[in-house]
Amino acid sequence: MARKMLQFTRLDQRTPDKRSAGTRRVDFDEIYGRFTPDAAGDQASRCEQCGIPFCQIHCPLQNNIPDWLMLTAAGRLEEAYALSSATNSMPEICGRICPQDRLCEGSCVLEQSRHGAVTIGAVEKFITDTAWERGWVKPILPLREREQSVGIIGGGPAGMAAAEQLRAQGYQVTLYDRYDRIGGLLVYGIPGFKLEKSVVERRVDLLARSGVIFKTNFEVGRDASLPELRKTHDAVLIATGVYKARGLSIPGAGLRGVTKALDYLIASNRTGLGDRVPAFEDGTLDAKDKAVVVIGGGDTAMDCLRTAIRQGARSVKCLYRRDRANMPGSQREVINAVEEGVDFVWLTAPEAVLGDERATGVRAHRMHLGVADATGRQSPQPIAGSEFTLEADLVIEALGFEPEDLPAVFGEPRLPITRWGTIQIDPVSKMSGLDGVFAAGDIVRGASLVVWAVRDGRDAAEGIRRYLVAKAAAAPAKAAP
Ligand code: FAD
Repeated sequence: MARKMLQFTRLDQRTPDKRSAGTRRVDFDEIYGRFTPDAAGDQASRCEQCGIPFCQIHCPLQNNIPDWLMLTAAGRLEEAYALSSATNSMPEICGRICPQDRLCEGSCVLEQSRHGAVTIGAVEKFITDTAWERGWVKPILPLREREQSVGIIGGGPAGMAAAEQLRAQGYQVTLYDRYDRIGGLLVYGIPGFKLEKSVVERRVDLLARSGVIFKTNFEVGRDASLPELRKTHDAVLIATGVYKARGLSIPGAGLRGVTKALDYLIASNRTGLGDRVPAFEDGTLDAKDKAVVVIGGGDTAMDCLRTAIRQGARSVKCLYRRDRANMPGSQREVINAVEEGVDFVWLTAPEAVLGDERATGVRAHRMHLGVADATGRQSPQPIAGSEFTLEADLVIEALGFEPEDLPAVFGEPRLPITRWGTIQIDPVSKMSGLDGVFAAGDIVRGASLVVWAVRDGRDAAEGIRRYLVAKAAAAPAKAAP
């Protein structure tokens, strides 16, 4: 059915149904349902088709959102999918986990004029899930095969997006990952209630059917050095993400029962995938019946809190030193967490983890927000005499991540890094200071978002293509098809 656009005057904003908190607390399935074709068409037709599409401008991939909304409203779903997938290597994943409230939907003119943004993420998810079901998502068949090969280290969204783009150009692509599954944080970090694993698996399977070779359980630094990979491939892309967790530096931080967020989430995700995880089975990383305190206010903290609820924790508290308005995590996820039973203790910082061998509690003090620092953020200051104690037998540190020491890990001291430990690349070519070695995703940007990793992976693939074309021109014998 073809619809007119600008229906925001007639139709209210609607999101797909959300499962009740009671039902979703007991499983790891996604919490949002899906639009019916009619609902997707109606919601897409609310778009104002602005002359300057702020949604597109504020999308890291510059997705052509107004046009695929118009095609959805017109019922031309296959074209909507073609357009959406032209700029995005995994639209159904971004539709599920992008913080749209901070990106496209937050910039929608209808949001600014208080009509409520077009529900862009839910429509994007609807379009691509429909495309999968109807067989419109097909493996890549390059127009011509090329001999030149690219080695990609890291199978997260940055590596996957680059692999897709390079295969489309006909290059031979090998993806190395130290884990046993491809997907990076999409598989082992982000819980199933935000992104079911089957959604990632079908993308990984598509890459395999497109001719990408996977070498899993292959850790660069242990199974091969970077110089060795450079000899094997014509170009190498580093897309290893950031995994060194920031820890607490307070008394008691080393007690049993204090754990790093990613260890906790990986154990939960692996258990959900059917793997045996001894540290989960013996109770160390299982929140069941425990008083859980999560320290931090970002997306990782939200995921730990909501995982603990699903594991049957006795109580789940979030300690964050700023207030709700100043937390880095998505507001949508905070609402979901509150609905599910998480207790937020705002403006609070931990002082010590209490206990003899095992954690039994956290001593904390209240904070107030002082004057803004150079970044414009108000810095939290402790309030004297405000100390109090919380019961805790599982304390999860969700304080962010930093890069590992890659030059040392990779056996390549000449790999240039920034003062934050991220890889330094040329902003245009995406190449590092080492000839033919490129980098993308969190390892360049620092801990960020999936949509930025996809963007970086695609940009790096284009940089690699240009490099390989030049290399082939300089050595024509190797370039012959
Ligand atoms: P990663 O996804 O980290 O992938 C890197 C890969 O490299 C991994 O598979 C790793 O095994 C591999 N690797 C590392 N070192 C080596 C080595 N030496 N040899 C071989 N392989 C190696 N973003 C969102 O947009 N929305 C969200 O809701 C969201 N939730 C998040 C929740 C959590 C708990 C976390 C931790 C992050 C979340 N993010 C979210 C951020 C997002 O997941 C990352 O920004 C994104 O995955 C980065 O992609 P990447 O490809 O750069 O790295």
